[in-house]
Formats: sequence, structure tokens, C-alpha cells
Amino acid sequence: MNPQQVYDVIIAGAGPAGMTAAVYTSRANMRTLLIEKGSPGGQMVNTEDIENYPGYESVLGPELSQKMFDHARKFGADYVRGQIREIRDGYPFKSVVLDDWEYKAKSVIVATGAEHRKLGVPGEKEFAGRGVSYCAVCDGAFFADMELVVVGGGDSAVEEAVFLTRYASKVTIIHRRDSLRAQKIIQKRAFENEKIHFIWNQQVLEIRGDSTVSGVLMQNTVTGEVLEYPCQGVFIYIGMDPISYCVKHLGITNDAGYIRTDEQMRTKLPGIFAAGDVREKTLRQVVTATGDGCLAAQSAQHYVEQLDERLKEQSLLESRNIS
Ligand code: FAD
Ligand code: NAP
Repeated sequence: MNPQQVYDVIIAGAGPAGMTAAVYTSRANMRTLLIEKGSPGGQMVNTEDIENYPGYESVLGPELSQKMFDHARKFGADYVRGQIREIRDGYPFKSVVLDDWEYKAKSVIVATGAEHRKLGVPGEKEFAGRGVSYCAVCDGAFFADMELVVVGGGDSAVEEAVFLTRYASKVTIIHRRDSLRAQKIIQKRAFENEKIHFIWNQQVLEIRGDSTVSGVLMQNTVTGEVLEYPCQGVFIYIGMDPISYCVKHLGITNDAGYIRTDEQMRTKLPGIFAAGDVREKTLRQVVTATGDGCLAAQSAQHYVEQLDERLKEQSLLESRNIS
């Protein structure tokens, strides 16, 4: 990698959206730089089995992550590990600012994904790593034969609750309503699992304990009654928030922080595209992220071709004026 060169495209984030975009742009001979602050794979890295990515009846998240990363590098994309602080718009070049360097590119694809939402209750921060977790795959094994609580009612909460029964003696899903949001096939697995219990219509108010977690204080959303429920670990899966701080100042996000694009993944700023979970859209999956990545790559390619034409014409004009 040559830090002085201007890239045709910089891709922010090496989740499935960014890695797919890198496959397409580098295969189209665009000078491509992929930048990732953590491990390539994004949310897939912390997913046990993925059963709904076509071609794989079941694949481990880290395995699919590695395969996509190898594929992304195969056609010559450069790769840098680092945290992007800011993406700056400009013409003809955009800037991508890291702690220790600033890269230039003709176009940028923002594929920075999403991260776990916090409950925001007392005890959550204090017991993080001491009984409070957001990653069953990472931390589940620490809770062998213990009683756990999972907060939430979506795909993540229910799927991860099932995963946690490999280790825990009992897993209680606490949900704020009386029906789950999770897909029916995922719900079925939980309802059929003897180790899983449900507590409906309860909002967690506090996570309690001493050196480690001993229980949660919860309030009935219908009756208002408050009571403490004992457990030794709390896994929180209450949705995701977009990671869009590096483009916050550009005016391309909605009120919730998701980036607005058209169907070609174009933001309102020419040359800046977005793909994957960070985008305003209805379904956030690996397969929709890869689809977005492909479209964003194609749009970036068209944009850069037109920009190159304009820059060529401009330099021709300038050279005629000089001579
Ligand atoms: P992400 O996967 O979030 O990747 C974004 C990447 O950008 C990350 O690696 C992040 O570190 C990086 N990044 C962010 N900010 C910066 C920055 N400032 N600088 C540099 N890098 C940055 N989907 C399915 O289809 N099937 C499943 O079975 C499935 N299971 C799931 C299980 C769980 C527990 C979770 C949480 C999600 C699951 N999903 C599943 C959803 C799926 O993982 C996501 O929809 C998909 O990963 C989104 O891809 P993405 O590339 O848009 O974002
Ligand atoms: P989600 O679908 O947004 O569900 C969040 C859940 O948490 C909802 O049940 C919600 O309750 C609850 N919740 C939200 N805020 C809360 C709060 N403050 N207190 C208590 N409960 C709260 O999020 P997710 O389950 O993390 O899934 C995120 C995305 O990844 C989804 O698109 C999902 O389909 C995808 N995903 C897919 C798979 C798969 O395909 N196998 C697996 C995991 C994730 P309400 O229901 O009342 O709103």
C-alpha cells in the first residue's frame, strides 16, 4: 500500500457490505483501499451459525468472514487496520481521516455497519465484563451451569438465548411485550428448548450485584409492579444503532443516524455511497449487506469513470490555454 496515492475508492468497514464492495471494485481494476477498525467480518465474527446465506446451509460466522476477506483481497484491494475518525467531502478528492494518517480517494463507500444498543440502566456499565455481555459467542462459555437472563425479543435475543443453553442451566428471556419480534423459525427453536423460559411484559430497570451480577430489577409494563429476578449473567440484545459518527457532519443521515441513499446506494453527496446496516432500510441481513455492497461498488465505478473523464477534459483545456 502506498499512502501517498489517490485511491479510486476507499471502503470504510470490512463487514459483508464493505468486503463485497471491495471484491467488485478491485475486480473492476479500481484502486481500492478497505479500512477496518476491528476484525474483518463485522457482526458475522460474533455469530455462531449463519443458516440463511445462499449456498451455505450452515456456516460459522468467523469462517464466512475469512472467506469473504480472502476474496476481497484476491483482486488486489489494499487493506489497512485503523479507526476512521472522519470522512470529508471534497472535489475532486474526498479525505478519510484516521488517527495517524489521512487518505485521499475519488469516491468513498461507507459500510460501517451497526453496533449493539445499550439498555442504559444502572448496573449495565458497572457489570460489563462481570456478568453483563452483548456477545453470547464470546462470553457464553464463562457461564457454565449458571442461570442467565437475555433481554430482548428480536432475532438476536432469541437465537442467542438458544445458543446460551449449550452452557447455562437455565436461560430466561425477558421481553417488554407479550409476543416476540423474532422470525417464527427462530421462535420455534426457543419454545421447544426446555432450558428456555419467558417472562413477558417486563422492562429491566436495573442490573444488581456485588462483585458480579446477582439479579435484575424489572417492572411489569402492564401492572407497574416491580420485582427482582435472580440470575448470574445478563445478555442484552435490544437492537442495533448505526455506526455513522464519521459522517455525522455531512448531513446524509436520518434522525436515528442511518445514512439515506437511493436504490443505487448514492447519498445526496456525489461520490459518497453507503452500503449495509448503516443504511436506512427495512431488512438488515448478511445477504442484503452483500447486495448493497455490490450496488455501491457499481455506482462508485460509474462515478469515478465520469470524474476521470471530466478531469481529463479539464487538464486538456488547461494545457491548451498554457500553450
Ligand atoms: P457490519 O457487519 O456491522 O460491519 C461493519 C464493519 O465496519 C465492522 O467490522 C466495524 O468494525 C467497521 N467499522 C465501523 N466503524 C468504523 C470506523 N470508524 N473505522 C473503521 N471501521 C469501522 N444476518 C444474517 O443474514 N444471518 C444471520 O444468521 C445473522 N445473525 C446475526 C447474529 C447477531 C448476533 C447479529 C448482531 C447480527 C446477525 N445478522 C445476521 C445480521 C448481519 O450480521 C448484519 O446484517 C451484517 O453483518 C451487516 O453487514 P455490514 O457490512 O453492513 O455491517
Ligand atoms: P431488533 O430486531 O431491532 O429487535 C430488538 C428487540 O429488543 C425487540 O424485540 C425490541 O422490543 C427490544 N427492545 C428494543 N429496545 C428495548 C429496550 N430499551 N428495552 C427492552 N427491550 C428493547 O434487533 P436484533 O434482534 O438485534 O436484530 C437486528 C437485525 O439483525 C435485524 O434486522 C435482524 O433480523 C438481524 N438478525 C438476523 C438474524 C438471522 O437472520 N438469523 C439473527 C440476528 C439478527 P419490541 O419487539 O417491543 O420492539
